[in-house]
Amino acid sequence: MYSDQHLHSSFSGDSETPPAMQAEKGIALGMDRICFTDHHDPFVESDVDFDLDIPAYFPAMEKLREEYAGRIDIGIGIELGLQTHIADHLETYTSYPFDLIIGSIHFVDGLDPYYPEYFAKYGSRAYTRYFETVYDCVKMMRCFDTLGHLDYIVRYGGDDLTYSYREYADLIDPILRLIIDRGIALECNTGGMSRGLDEPNPCYDIFRRYHELGGELITIGSDAHDPSTLGYRFADAGEALRAIGFTHYAQYHRREPRMLRL
Ligand SMILES: [Zn+2]
Ligand SMILES: [Zn+2]
Repeated sequence: MYSDQHLHSSFSGDSETPPAMQAEKGIALGMDRICFTDHHDPFVESDVDFDLDIPAYFPAMEKLREEYAGRIDIGIGIELGLQTHIADHLETYTSYPFDLIIGSIHFVDGLDPYYPEYFAKYGSRAYTRYFETVYDCVKMMRCFDTLGHLDYIVRYGGDDLTYSYREYADLIDPILRLIIDRGIALECNTGGMSRGLDEPNPCYDIFRRYHELGGELITIGSDAHDPSTLGYRFADAGEALRAIGFTHYAQYHRREPRMLRL
């Protein structure tokens, strides 16, 4: 079982799961390692508190790592919310000893596509504006190791908005080229599949294109906010990625990739 490198615990404002419960689920699934990546979206206005208490997080996770030594390896990561206007501030998080920093775009011009207000504001440009923002973030920032759920917005677009990689290829290809140039991984996030999507985020067409352009680094994560979806459909995702031509996935330790067979 691939190691899950995108999961949340009660250190995230939108999860109430004690970290030990995620570790137990990882063991039950036969994982050698899981990496916690609790949310940190600095300076956003939201009903949910997306500020990670980093001074409390490290000691708690280090204690967990000791408690579970020999049963499952615990990585300490973060899902950092990227926003262009705080680019310099975001770079400061690289001074912490994280195993993995996921760069995710949850807020576009201060609005989260999770809420209908985003779609009301951008209408038919909703997806375009999202991908433009991803590109700007990736171009401006080097503070992350893997690009989280690249087409996150399709989780919330619903049936009214059609979406295919091809329609947005002009916007997505430059993002893929940038991460390849910079040695940043592309995350395969199965979280949306547990909520009804047929494919991970991003969709397999984007992985196909990434592979075609020479991309090799991928990470795999379930985005589980509770144990029920930890490792969700990893076997299916692995099979699909192998069919595209990937042979390995990257597991991060102190922000360095180790390549493991898919
Ligand atoms: Zn996310
Ligand atoms: Zn997440």
